[in-house]
Amino acid sequence: MNVKFDVSRIRKDFPVLTQKVYGKPLVYLDNGATTQKPLSVINCINNFYLSRNSSIHRGLHYLSEQATEAYENAREIVKEFINARYSHEVIFTSGTTGSINGIALSFGEKYIHEGDEIVITAMEHHSNIVPWQMLCERKNANLKIIPFSDDGELLLDEFDKLLTPQTKIVAVIHVSNSLGTVNPVEDIIRKSHQRNVPVLIDGAQSVQHLDVDVQKLDCDFFVFSGHKIYGPTGIGILYGKEKWLEDLQPFHGGGEMVAEVTFEKTTYNELPFKFEAGTTNYIAAIALGEALKYVSSIGKEGIAAYESELLEYATKKIKDLGDIKIYGTAKNKISILSFIIGNINPYDAGMIFDKMGVAVRTGTHCAQPVMHRYNIDGTIRASLAMYNTKQEIDILCEAIEKAKSMLA
Ligand code: PMP
Repeated sequence: MNVKFDVSRIRKDFPVLTQKVYGKPLVYLDNGATTQKPLSVINCINNFYLSRNSSIHRGLHYLSEQATEAYENAREIVKEFINARYSHEVIFTSGTTGSINGIALSFGEKYIHEGDEIVITAMEHHSNIVPWQMLCERKNANLKIIPFSDDGELLLDEFDKLLTPQTKIVAVIHVSNSLGTVNPVEDIIRKSHQRNVPVLIDGAQSVQHLDVDVQKLDCDFFVFSGHKIYGPTGIGILYGKEKWLEDLQPFHGGGEMVAEVTFEKTTYNELPFKFEAGTTNYIAAIALGEALKYVSSIGKEGIAAYESELLEYATKKIKDLGDIKIYGTAKNKISILSFIIGNINPYDAGMIFDKMGVAVRTGTHCAQPVMHRYNIDGTIRASLAMYNTKQEIDILCEAIEKAKSMLA
């Protein structure tokens, strides 16, 4: 483990973690849903509204220039963070959901026709299912699904069979939010590109845990949400290769995304503005830049090593309790523990956990097809972040024991 990684120091940066709920120390294990924010991000938002708020790209006055510079600087930070080739390949959106819907609209409008096929996996979040389903309905196209094994690993042989001359795009979750599986997206991208099929990667659960390099991955689109990587809500990223973003039509029309507007014809602005219609959530974008700076200052390598140590500890401890079934046992997995205690309903267990100060997610995790695959109604999901500790895992285990004693 990286010796410089100091979880007690990191926790000091997250004031929300110091509180008590129902008189018990908060144990926040719902990071897959959203992460807490470090002081630098909170202060950034506060300070911006206090002294520098102004509409970006529009005014020539001092405040507007300051805000514009900070916004474009944030784009530069995102570009560096994911190692995009150009900063104009980084589009600010409202989040992962906004980014995927945007591509489903723009790509779908131009390239999907009757009988075409779109390939996704059986472990997608609803955000990477529904927009493609809506597109398929509009265009009379077909959705094809890569299945996964009992361990939660994609069956790549099946993927090979699904790639046909009708396949027009492949959209894959990088890390499963319900199982923790890290999918072999490099293989999927390589195989798809052999057939000239572009690939969108849903990085909502990967970018905060893994070192993502979009050039190395060679993905065509990569999307993620600010709020899951210690940044604010309402902001997300759509990375697209320049050739695609140049090629596709904007998915929103309005101010800022235009070059010239007449009633006869509108021409569009250059990248990245072509895809950023209207007043964006620019302060959230600036604060996302701050969040990524924070993550980089801790070090992605140290975070990954610490989180994997934590996951190993948690998995062993929870298994040792007995009568627990873990869903998602892939060889390559991170940070997410989905499980069921005996025949106890996850919702009932979650309520007992809550009273002990332990925040977990219970239910289907916006991945109902995953639950259908296992023929279950839902799981308890503990999702870990860099600020969680082994002591917190111990408290989670106490909560499991309590749920067992009360409900079994
Ligand atoms: N994809 C995955 C894998 C997710 O985990 C989530 C959020 N749970 C989303 C997409 C949707 O993200 P958002 O709600 O921030 O748009």
